[in-house]
Amino acid sequence: MERVSSQDALKRAVLDEGLCAACGACVGGCPYMTTFRGKTVVLDRCTVEHGRCYRYCPMTEFDPDAVSALVFERPHDTEALGHLDRVISSQAADPAVAALGQGGGTVTALMLLALEEGIIDSAVLTRILPGEEYARGVVATTTEEIQAAAGSKFVGSHSLAAVRQALDAGHRRIGVVGLPCQVRSLRKMALYDLKQENLKERIALVVGLFCNWAFSSRDFAAFLAPRFGPTSIKRFQIPPPPANVLEVETDDGATRVPLDELRPLIQESCRTCPDMTGEFADVSVGMYEGMPGWNTLIVRTSLGTRLIEDAVRTGRLRTDAFPDSNLEHLKKAALQKRKRASQA
Ligand SMILES: Cc1cc2nc3c(=O)[nH]c(=O)nc-3n(C[C@H](O)[C@H](O)[C@H](O)COP(=O)(O)OP(=O)(O)OC[C@H]3O[C@@H](n4cnc5c(N)ncnc54)[C@H](O)[C@@H]3O)c2cc1C
Repeated sequence: MERVSSQDALKRAVLDEGLCAACGACVGGCPYMTTFRGKTVVLDRCTVEHGRCYRYCPMTEFDPDAVSALVFERPHDTEALGHLDRVISSQAADPAVAALGQGGGTVTALMLLALEEGIIDSAVLTRILPGEEYARGVVATTTEEIQAAAGSKFVGSHSLAAVRQALDAGHRRIGVVGLPCQVRSLRKMALYDLKQENLKERIALVVGLFCNWAFSSRDFAAFLAPRFGPTSIKRFQIPPPPANVLEVETDDGATRVPLDELRPLIQESCRTCPDMTGEFADVSVGMYEGMPGWNTLIVRTSLGTRLIEDAVRTGRLRTDAFPDSNLEHLKKAALQKRKRASQA
């Protein structure tokens, strides 16, 4: 009988099918695979049969009940937003942090607090480093490094490769901010823990970002290069519907690019992803349509509850109610993504 290595299986099911989410889980610490200009690349054949690359990939088999049992101690909640304790709105109370953030700076405020309180000893975040073209994962251990990662890079960024860096550096309590696909991968790491590294404890905090889609890093860079100087871009913004544009902010002001022009750059994997809100995170954060400077915040686990309570008590975070009409709208959007995935 033919022995299929994990890498062969990953290639067949994911890479060759164009379904790589560019999460970065397979390339971290693997000598046979790497990233090149925003793509996952196989350098050499690996014959390991039970490898992490296939097991931790968010696009291979995913058992929602097993992951839910691990994270929430209950079976998977199939409601539109997954298991949750509550949905509220929030913003960083520090105006400087709020100004750095994509929405209200909630994520940055929470990571700063988690580091300060020792809930985490490091944070795996996503940055475009000075002089570089592609977003990637970084291990942040200081206030400055966490703040420098604020803002959304609307691409698949292979950020989870930096989880390996954090583990190899000996960090014991790693916080990770990730897209829904990355959240799934992180939970698979903890569930299967193939190298027995106590990943359930060491991946100590998972903050999910809402996500409908992400651009292919390489295609997006190729699109931007002739239009904007690579180092001139300061920030991207996607205003709420019906704008249907991506705003690119540079030193010369903001340019609006129609989203319809950019849709061909969306990763194929996003079309098959059923999760809009990072259902298996400790907390999930998204934009708050119609309320600039605020976020939508879904609190899911007891750790998430503790973090938010601490953030409010210590004056890091301002919270408010999330109106029922917005909640209904959010659920509808999440269900639409599920439906799209089921039809792909
Ligand atoms: C690809 C993508 C698609 C998104 N789609 C939606 C959407 O459809 N609806 C919606 O409501 N919100 C969406 N968001 C989330 C939204 O843009 C904000 O990230 C979220 O509201 C948190 O805002 P904040 O002000 O708290 O974040 P900040 O305080 O600015 O923190 C942002 C954090 O996100 C991390 N990050 C940035 N880019 C990436 C990336 N590519 N991969 C992983 N981590 C990253 C950074 O490390 C940083 O820690 C999307 C984000 C991304 C990256």
